[in-house]
Amino acid sequence: MNSFTYTRTDAVDTAVRERASDQTAKFVAGGTNLIDLMKENVERPTRLIDITRLPLAAISDTINGGLRLGALATNADTAYNEQVSQRYPLLSQAILAGASPQLRNMATDGGNLLQRTRCYYFYDTATPCNKREPGSGCSAINGYNRIHAILGTSEPGRIGEPSCIATHPSDMCVALAALEAVVRVKGSAGERTIPFADFHRLPGDTPHIDNTLEPGELITSIDLPARGFPEFHTYLKLRDRASYAFALVSVAVGLEMDRSDGSGNTITTARIALGGVAHKPWRKPEAETLLVGKPATKENFQAAAELLLAGAQGFGHNTFKIELAKRAIIRALGQAAKLEPTA
Ligand SMILES: Cc1cc2nc3c(=O)[nH]c(=O)nc-3n(C[C@H](O)[C@H](O)[C@H](O)COP(=O)(O)OP(=O)(O)OC[C@H]3O[C@@H](n4cnc5c(N)ncnc54)[C@H](O)[C@@H]3O)c2cc1C
Ligand code: SF4
Repeated sequence: MNSFTYTRTDAVDTAVRERASDQTAKFVAGGTNLIDLMKENVERPTRLIDITRLPLAAISDTINGGLRLGALATNADTAYNEQVSQRYPLLSQAILAGASPQLRNMATDGGNLLQRTRCYYFYDTATPCNKREPGSGCSAINGYNRIHAILGTSEPGRIGEPSCIATHPSDMCVALAALEAVVRVKGSAGERTIPFADFHRLPGDTPHIDNTLEPGELITSIDLPARGFPEFHTYLKLRDRASYAFALVSVAVGLEMDRSDGSGNTITTARIALGGVAHKPWRKPEAETLLVGKPATKENFQAAAELLLAGAQGFGHNTFKIELAKRAIIRALGQAAKLEPTA
C-alpha cells in the first residue's frame, strides 16, 4: 500500500505552485488513467492535486479564428460541442472512436494527451521495462509485441536494440496532430505554447519521458487553428474489437480539394497522422507535400503511404502492421476525398 495525500484547488496559480513545491506530486483530472496506474503500482505519487475544479473546462473561439479547448473539457463535451463537430469533425470522430461513453464523460482533454502507453509489460511490475524503470530492459522487443511500434523506435546510426517500442495509445491526439493543434501550458516559470508535433517525443534513450512538458507544468488548453478540414476528412481506426479497444493502426486525414479545375479532383492541402504505430502520433510532411497539386488517385495515395512507412521495422508479432498501415492510409485518403464510403 502506498499512502498519498490529496488536495483540491480551484485556482490555476495555486495548483501550479503546489505542484512546483513537491516533485513527487501529480495532478489528477478524470483519473481514468492515473488511478489505474496507481492501483497497478506503476505510478506512486505521494500527493494528488485534484484539478477538476480549475476554471479550464470552456471551449471558446480564439482571436485568430480557431477554437480553444480548455484542458478540463471532458472528451464527451468536446466531441459533442457544436463548434467542434461542425468545424473540426475529424476531432469529434477520433474522440468518439476511443474508450466508452462512461470513460469519455470522465476523461479530460489534458489528461488524454498525457495518458500512458498500453504496453502490457509497462503495467506488469514483475517484468523489466525501461519506461517504468529506466535501465531495466524492454520485455516487449523479444516478447509479445502485437500492439507495439513499427516506426521511430531506432535513431539512424544507432547500434543495438531500441530502448522501447511502446506506442502512444490516444485517438484524440492523432486528430490533433493532423489538425496541427498547439498546447498551452503554465508552470512556475510562466506560460508557453508547444506545437503539437513537438509535444510527444520518440523514446530515444529516455523512454520514461513521454513528452516535452517541464516537470510540474499544467496544460491549460489545446488550441485548434482556423483550418479544420470540415469537408474532406476521416478518422479510420483499425482494432481487434469494434469498440472499447485501442487502435492497432489509426489514420487521421484532413484534405482540401479544388473541385473547380479540369480534373475536379485536385488536392490542395493534405494532413495525414497515424496512430498505433509509434511513441507519438506519426506524421511525415513529405508524404503530405507529395499529394499537393495531384489528383486524388489510388496511385498517389499508395506513394504517400510508402513514404509514411519508410523505415518501418517489425518485431515479430507486430510486423503485420506495416502492410496494415499502408492499406489503412490508402483507404482513409479515399474516404476523406469522398472516393469511397466511410464505414
Ligand atoms: C478501459 C479504457 C479504455 C480506453 N480506451 C481508449 C481508446 O480507445 N482511445 C483513447 O484515446 N483513450 C482510451 N482510453 C484512455 C482515456 O482516454 C484516458 O485515460 C483519458 O483521456 C485520460 O484523461 P483523464 O482526465 O482521466 O486523465 P488522468 O487519469 O486524470 O491523468 C492522466 C495523466 O495526465 C496528468 N494530467 C491530467 N490533466 C492534466 C493537466 N491539465 N495538466 C498537466 N497534467 C495533467 C495526470 O497527472 C496524469 O499523469 C481508455 C481508458 C480506459 C480506462
Ligand atoms: S515497449 Fe517500452 S513500455 Fe513496453 S516493455 Fe518495452 S520499454 Fe517498457
